[in-house]
Amino acid sequence: MNPNSLIAKTATELGRDLESGACKAEEIAAAYLERIEQVDGKVHAFLHRDDENFLAQARASDERRAKGETLGPLDGVPVCLKDVISVEGQPLTAASRILENYVSPYDATVTRKLKEAGAVIGGRLNLDEFAMGSSTENSAYGPTRNPWDLERVPGGSSGGSSAAVAAREAPLTLGSDTGGSIRQPASLCGVVGMKPTYGMVSRYGLAAFASSLDQIGPFSQTVEDAALLLETISGHDPLDSTSYPTEVPSYSRALREDTSPCTLGLPKEFFGEGMDDEVRQAVEKAIDFFKTEGYEIVEVSLPTTDLSVPVYYVVATAEASSNLARYDGIRYTSRSERAENAVDVYAKSRGEGFGEEVKRRCILGAYGLSSGYYDAYYLRAQKTRTLIRQDFDRAFEKVDAILTPTSPTPAFKFGEKSEDPISMYLSDAYTISTNLAGLPGISVPCGFTEAGLPIGLQLISKAFEESHLLAVAHAYDREHQFGRRAPELG
Ligand code: GLN
Repeated sequence: MNPNSLIAKTATELGRDLESGACKAEEIAAAYLERIEQVDGKVHAFLHRDDENFLAQARASDERRAKGETLGPLDGVPVCLKDVISVEGQPLTAASRILENYVSPYDATVTRKLKEAGAVIGGRLNLDEFAMGSSTENSAYGPTRNPWDLERVPGGSSGGSSAAVAAREAPLTLGSDTGGSIRQPASLCGVVGMKPTYGMVSRYGLAAFASSLDQIGPFSQTVEDAALLLETISGHDPLDSTSYPTEVPSYSRALREDTSPCTLGLPKEFFGEGMDDEVRQAVEKAIDFFKTEGYEIVEVSLPTTDLSVPVYYVVATAEASSNLARYDGIRYTSRSERAENAVDVYAKSRGEGFGEEVKRRCILGAYGLSSGYYDAYYLRAQKTRTLIRQDFDRAFEKVDAILTPTSPTPAFKFGEKSEDPISMYLSDAYTISTNLAGLPGISVPCGFTEAGLPIGLQLISKAFEESHLLAVAHAYDREHQFGRRAPELG
């Protein structure tokens, strides 16, 4: 099959073609490697590739299939991972200098599940250092560029994961979302991105940023593909104590069966000031679509919305300062060559190994947790976090899902926000409360600006209602398929 037609396909289509014998996994892998060679010099989604290993996995899939031992719909389909998810024997840098020479000694649970499903695991994808940021400008290895406009950011922190799908360098990728890091880059790159309910996907083998907020989730061209990837990686894992013991429903089946219109809530606090006009228009058009399909649209209120960014930056930095204490120059990280005594080893290794934003977060977090300030910052933020969750509980008494824009603006230019941390932090104003409340959220492409930049809408549901959330998202996506459009990229 022609390589250009292979890379245009969704994972679901590739799975069907493999099944029918229309193509081989090795052909698919080779087509993607060719594409990456063509475009990644411009996009810079990848930090590391092991092409031989990638092709070998594809050949192994073809051999299984030839013997009639196929492992499922993803057998032979490439999936690339954000460089915070462990793959045994592969590097994991978290886009930080401090992990420059680190190689994972084991597989993350999501990696193991992908391997068990026969997926072909590809290269390591760029991000903001330790997933802290919204643009990939904080990567120690240079930023990723938005495939729709190379002068603009792809969003972040999972910018490599969103750009790789948009640029057709991978049909599926995984990212992690602590405050919006899957949904915001998905929106800015015009692809689907989903953060599952906290506890639905194991965090074992994910380099931790803020453990009470982090979740791994899928990127894809369509909601149908996101459902397929999510059902593959979800499920209880005894290796993650916060993983929830529940059965994983077939999300793919839910897309076909759960089709009756429901009630969608529009939080009035999200539709106020600060939203770009073209974003507003595209989201309003999507709301009109739902209305004509028979969905009931009602206004809801989430009064604590404006507290979510400040609460997040107390909670997330507190957890980060504790999680990142392990990068000490003693164990698996690089050690400063200038260290002259034990304290120096810690201070200089961390001083040289971490970038500015990571240092800022560690200092902020340690401050918020320190005796004398704990009550004023950390404790207060935790109490407010409960109020944020209760706002959602009340809203879900009236509605089945909540609809908002994903990001207040389309992709911004490099440098536009990087000098001003607060304006960068505000680009997650619509996504952060979902993490604080532990709820699932999905970003679905809903149009383009006049200048050709993608726009995304966000749907949020009750905890563990992924099936329903995906079904609502699919009802829109099936009819619009904006994520199937690909940028030119010369
Ligand atoms: N942009 C947010 C931050 O900088 C969220 C990051 C994320 O979800 N990992 O913390």
